[in-house]
Amino acid sequence: RGGMAEPVIPFSQPDNLTKVYAVASGKGGVGKSTVTANLAAAMAADGLKVGVVDADVYGFSLPRMLGVELPPTKVDDMILPPVAGDVKVISIGMFTEPGRAVVWRGPMLHRALQQFLADVFWGDLDVLLLDLPPGTGDIAISVAQLLPNAELLVVTTPQLAAAEVAERAGAMAQATQQKVAGVIENMSWLVQQDGSRLELFGSGGGQRVADQLTATLGSDVPLLGQVPIEVELREGGDSGSPLVTSTDHSEAADVLREVAHTL
Ligand code: ADP
Repeated sequence: RGGMAEPVIPFSQPDNLTKVYAVASGKGGVGKSTVTANLAAAMAADGLKVGVVDADVYGFSLPRMLGVELPPTKVDDMILPPVAGDVKVISIGMFTEPGRAVVWRGPMLHRALQQFLADVFWGDLDVLLLDLPPGTGDIAISVAQLLPNAELLVVTTPQLAAAEVAERAGAMAQATQQKVAGVIENMSWLVQQDGSRLELFGSGGGQRVADQLTATLGSDVPLLGQVPIEVELREGGDSGSPLVTSTDHSEAADVLREVAHTL
């Protein structure tokens, strides 16, 4: 091999204190990016220095959800990430041509992720969140290789079928020897006019994933929270102003802020 040194990833150095969480889900559309964006915003509001890597090749939704308006800039050999609401954000979507479909192969994703971690000037971060593509693909292995200290956060809906695929995503942690910090159930219920809860997607998925992963991994994987369906949560994502930093009157926001505190 041509003697090219592997780029240095600050977050994987032994003396680095940044907590790294990789947010995973079994399938798309369960709210992984919404959860990631709101956790990041809540942590930043708590005064933590937060960075987010949007590695969801199918989604690229984080910049919009966090209200990022500018592209990254280049200074010498470093990439400066744009900042939105005190959160530094880099997205794989910032480096692709708009509207053009890109077929990402494992090695390309690995290199992109490596670049995001080594060539982006993050400064000192308290927390780095990674929004992974859904599923159990190569990227999980890349994360484990590039960021051996990363802990997984698994997002699922209450639905049994979603829970099953989420378990597989979480069980990857066994092969890669990563810790699973916990499970977040999203879209748990919808509060109706009369105050009752309509369990649109059934119930029990989050607890089930937590229990199964606890059994598989042999260490406690808690259910960190259940986030209800709220129109305002979706609207906050669409308008780039995360609900956790814009209201005190939302159960979803309360739960997400509480999860952010626990991490
Ligand atoms: P993923 O990242 O898993 O593909 P997203 O975070 O993009 O999922 O969420 C999918 C859609 O569902 C988005 O339009 C988002 O705004 C919406 N959504 C996610 N969670 C909730 C929720 N708890 N209540 C209402 N809408 C939600």
